[in-house]
Amino acid sequence: MPIQILPAMLANQIAAGEVVERPASVVKELVENSLDAGADKIEIEVERGGHKRILIRDNGSGISQHELVLALSRHATSKISSLDDLEQIMSMGFRGEALASISSVSRLTLTSRTAGQEAAWQAYAEGRDMQVQIQPAAHPVGTSVDVQDLFFNTPARRKFLRAEKTEFTHIDEWLRRIALARYDVQFSLRHNGKTVRRYPKINQPDDQRKRVAAILGATFASDALDINSHYESMQLQGYLHANRSGELDVQYFYVNGRVMRDKLIHHAVRQATAEMYGDNHQLAYVMYLRLPPQEVDINVHPAKHEVRFHQARQVHDFIYRAIIDMLQQESCLNSEPAAR
Ligand code: ADP
Ligand code: MG
Repeated sequence: MPIQILPAMLANQIAAGEVVERPASVVKELVENSLDAGADKIEIEVERGGHKRILIRDNGSGISQHELVLALSRHATSKISSLDDLEQIMSMGFRGEALASISSVSRLTLTSRTAGQEAAWQAYAEGRDMQVQIQPAAHPVGTSVDVQDLFFNTPARRKFLRAEKTEFTHIDEWLRRIALARYDVQFSLRHNGKTVRRYPKINQPDDQRKRVAAILGATFASDALDINSHYESMQLQGYLHANRSGELDVQYFYVNGRVMRDKLIHHAVRQATAEMYGDNHQLAYVMYLRLPPQEVDINVHPAKHEVRFHQARQVHDFIYRAIIDMLQQESCLNSEPAAR
């Protein structure tokens, strides 16, 4: 075969392979877009585990009529315009790939209205031919993205969809992760017409524990110790519960608002708690690390599950120290000898 440039549609579908693994990844990308648009109310509606439909509605800033079609194009983003921006990034998105990818493997309707517009507009893109049509619609300020028949035109991907229940569990789990990070936003999740989750907006930062309780249970929220520490430009906040008989086995770690699994960080936490509780203990935590955006590289993986720290050792030691200090303080306060 001669070398040829792939048609845009096929290129989008190939890219979709990296970003859109399953319904939960669609929810992730769309909710992140809503958060980037400044929404404080996000509704998620799912039918049949997302196989049939995923609808996200937000009250964010909206997309103007003349940008609707552009928003669906690949590498079209309002979030960065230079390499410098990329190194300073605070938004969840920046690749300009999610809408193009999702619309290439589904039947997608994007409806939006900005505050400056009298009426809303709607764009519809259907899979392979990507004929984007726009028409007037009724919608309050904000955006709705309606994704139907995911992978209808990519049977190989469709085969990998699991049972509705399994896919829904992934969506629910993903929502827990984002809702733990963004207690300043109200989320609701409906499945097959029934409201399954409702996380009200928390107005006072001090009430953050209420969101933690709603998601991880009242027991964890009341038993967990507070972490609050900073060193130079790094700040660590969160909740940790470690003991020999804990039942909850969850570890959530956020870097600048993004959830991630990072061996280095888990190692630092585990090493610190082992000093207090020995090698055999249960560990549950939710922690939020903040550091200047130029200290981390988030452009490592298309779905942004990983980051790279420029000063990995420093980050590790800071977390280790923060937890040791907190545990030591706690054991002094309790005046009980530390269990060893
Ligand atoms: P990215 O988020 O990486 O910029 P996307 O393909 O996810 O790329 O979105 C493309 C663009 O469409 C965004 O940069 C943003 O300007 C706009 N957009 C997408 N979703 C929303 C939304 N819910 N509200 C407002 N604007 C949005
Ligand atoms: Mg995005």
